[in-house]
Amino acid sequence: MATVEWRSPASEMAVKQFEIAAGKLNLDKNVAERLRRPDRALIVSVPVMRDDRRVQVFTGYRVQHNDTLGPFKGGIRYHPDVNLGEVSALAMWMTWKCALAGLPLGGAKGGVSCDPAELSRAEVQGLTRRYTAEILNIIGPEVDVPAPDMGTDEQVMAWVMDTYSQHKGHAVPGVVTGKPVAIGGTVGRREATGRGVVYTIGEAAKHLNIDLVGATAAVQGFGNVGSVAAKELADVGVKIVAISDKTGGRYDPKGLPIQSVIEYVTKTSKSFTLEGCPHGERITNAELLEIQCDILVPAALGMQITAQNAPKLKCRLLAEGANGPTTLDADAVLREKGIFVIPDVLANAGGVIVSYFEWVQDLQNFFWTEDEINKKLRAILTKSFYEVLDMSRTEKVDMRLAALMIGVERVSRAMLWRGLYA
Ligand code: NAD
Repeated sequence: MATVEWRSPASEMAVKQFEIAAGKLNLDKNVAERLRRPDRALIVSVPVMRDDRRVQVFTGYRVQHNDTLGPFKGGIRYHPDVNLGEVSALAMWMTWKCALAGLPLGGAKGGVSCDPAELSRAEVQGLTRRYTAEILNIIGPEVDVPAPDMGTDEQVMAWVMDTYSQHKGHAVPGVVTGKPVAIGGTVGRREATGRGVVYTIGEAAKHLNIDLVGATAAVQGFGNVGSVAAKELADVGVKIVAISDKTGGRYDPKGLPIQSVIEYVTKTSKSFTLEGCPHGERITNAELLEIQCDILVPAALGMQITAQNAPKLKCRLLAEGANGPTTLDADAVLREKGIFVIPDVLANAGGVIVSYFEWVQDLQNFFWTEDEINKKLRAILTKSFYEVLDMSRTEKVDMRLAALMIGVERVSRAMLWRGLYA
């Protein structure tokens, strides 16, 4: 059970998943006791001057779960549902994700409880700068390196980098990843998470004997991860029959024209959403999840696939672009139905892998080509995919438990080497 301060549905789920993996690994009890809770959690008040000169105070968080393997790493989320428990769960998943991918990084997450769609760009800038100033003492290139997540983008990362740099008195690109290329970002980071989802789908399709050319897919969420995953899937011949965002979904059994939809969302739509999109027929988010398709990619919020709707899923392969989209009860149903799951800590690890590449390039002031980035990304994800598949076969466990077992075991081994400083 999650420790009381951090308790929420998401952290309960993350801790329970950890306990199942720890039990299966017969993990050292002292190590398990430590890993059940974050190293550190900071709650900050973030006053923002609204455009009407009223000051509104938002609540922000930075939770650092574990840094045994290296500096903390994890995104910043701007969303109304952000709370301490959710951020703690996301931080814990980052620890396992980095360890599974073999990165010398720990796990963290941050966020501000707000609806960025209701704020002007100037207000988002004010919020970002003050939030960064409030967490400044616990971030830094050698300490904790944030990145984008839901509701944040490369512009937000640029403001984080600038605020941190102004305080230090010189440019510090390595404090944050997912920055624009012009200020020390890396090529390929914006596409990395969605692209990585598709690389892992490629390996799973080989394993399941699914021919991706002509296969069908539905994607929930059409932001950074969802839109790139849809585009990359379409590029390898998959027919995208359904997509959605917070305004609802679109369905076309003949396949949606993904490039035109992306252009609509990024250039035509005033709200940068699917609202008013001329392609396909309208469906709800709930309907999208239950559509007949080969591949389902949840790429929005957590806890979308539950014990209620899991029995109605009709896909063969579930690739978790989002973090924590499937509840524990739903996992049991998916196992029974024989749906192959590529768990979040593996499927969406492309984001943190290329963030790691960006951090390394910033530290060395030496930049790589997109081809090098994509090759290295594919190599790490393919290796991780087969490590997880092997573990799942040897231990006769599902892919999620196998992935968590690998991540947890690596962190635990490192903790035992380092010992307890007391
Ligand atoms: P984003 O803000 O770019 O996009 C989020 C999308 O989800 C938007 O299209 C939004 O309209 C949609 N959405 C919001 N509420 C919804 C709802 N109730 N139903 C359906 N759609 C809804 O965010 P993102 O960066 O694409 O992140 C999406 C998910 O992927 C999150 O779970 C995030 O933690 C995870 N993730 C992101 C990254 C990254 O690099 N950005 C890396 C790993 C994991």
